[in-house]
Amino acid sequence: MKLTTKDTVGLLLVVGTLGALLVHIGPDGHAAKHPLALTDGGGSATTAIENKTVAFVNVNVLPMNGEGILANQVVVVEGGLVRRIGPVGEVSVPIGALQINGNGTQFVMPGLTDAHVHLADDARDWLPLFVANGVTTVFNLRGEPDHLRLRDQIRSREVLGPMMYTSGPFTSAGETVTPDQAAREVQRQAADGYDFVKIHGDLSEEAYRRLVQVAQEEEIAVVGHAPRNLPLSEVLESGQAGLTHAEELIYTRFSTLDESDLDRAASEIAAAGTWITPTLSTFANNEAQWGTRTGLEARLGSEAALAVPRSLRERWAEPNFYTTKDSTERPQISAMLDFHRPMLRSLGRAGVPMLTGTDAGLPVMVPGSSLHDELDALVDAGLGRYGALQAATRNAGLFVRRFVHEDVSFGTVTLGARADLLLLDQNPLLDLSGLRQPRGVMLRGEWFDRAALDAMLDKAGDSR
Ligand SMILES: [Zn+2]
Repeated sequence: MKLTTKDTVGLLLVVGTLGALLVHIGPDGHAAKHPLALTDGGGSATTAIENKTVAFVNVNVLPMNGEGILANQVVVVEGGLVRRIGPVGEVSVPIGALQINGNGTQFVMPGLTDAHVHLADDARDWLPLFVANGVTTVFNLRGEPDHLRLRDQIRSREVLGPMMYTSGPFTSAGETVTPDQAAREVQRQAADGYDFVKIHGDLSEEAYRRLVQVAQEEEIAVVGHAPRNLPLSEVLESGQAGLTHAEELIYTRFSTLDESDLDRAASEIAAAGTWITPTLSTFANNEAQWGTRTGLEARLGSEAALAVPRSLRERWAEPNFYTTKDSTERPQISAMLDFHRPMLRSLGRAGVPMLTGTDAGLPVMVPGSSLHDELDALVDAGLGRYGALQAATRNAGLFVRRFVHEDVSFGTVTLGARADLLLLDQNPLLDLSGLRQPRGVMLRGEWFDRAALDAMLDKAGDSR
């Protein structure tokens, strides 16, 4: 049976009148590709809660599709999707809709994506931190079977959290992988229903090529580190969809930190269509801890770190991959951090598509607020506020549509887009700080006002 989006919405209306029945209907292709997944919420409805109609009235809309700001708009959300957008007076508010009045002064923009997080076993306790910070989508980049369950629980709203896409377990971790092993692992992860294949470690040229080639056959995107034993040219030729740290470019092309070749490399990356997730604030976090507990402790003692459950803070306080490094390497790491700024400017100038990511969940990258630190870092590096916001919104939607689900639309405030929206007191194009305290967050059509967001923060940060 083939169902269109229209059919699904119609069905949901029927179900809505019958009561709190849950329906999980997705296009056939989607269901076949991701047998364990419920629907994505992008082209079809997930639960009865999405049947609520909400209207933002007299708001200024930052659609993030290149059209600047639309003043004094009405935005109608139904079935978890943006259904109507237009000037006050031209778009009527449906009877019975929950009305949120922006008084002509407030702004609506798309929810943010953290395209590089690590959700631990206790993540169900702190996933709401993302939502409270306006992060409505995350890419989990070290997946296990439990993450597939978590993804389903989030989509069915059994667990409160941002829409989640997940890679499988690391490929290439810690052992020599033959081309056949790489092929089998990719096939297994695709069959299990993971959204991405994650590279994390060295691979022989043969195994790497086979891995990416089989992933393309299986229609699953390869993201992650570069195999750092191979040159960047090999990565660009391979078809790997994304590099999840800009530092990979240093290991594979700029080990001497020579800035003179940056623009040429950036145009090659742009031509190859390889996506880059800079994780600049993450690198700064790692640099601060390199071979010393001082940086770790300073970050643990910060107010931002108090947002997470005590158990997570205690785990973060243990010696980690960075604190146990050789501290004499620190000047080199600091130079690498400095190199990120010209590197990102070159990538920006060349039009390399970028995403925002943080490694949230690792010490001491606080889920939710660390994405704001990353946005600030990208602006500071010269990408501009619009460029940084685009990486966190529209680009994430484009990436998922291209590499994960072609029927999904999010990251813009446009007709048919998933209703992941932020309501802000300030124009984010003039000042990003208001993003840290949104007036409200809409998560797939479900509205959370400031009081609800504060309650999420209180609950996650308590002494559990
Ligand atoms: Zn990571």
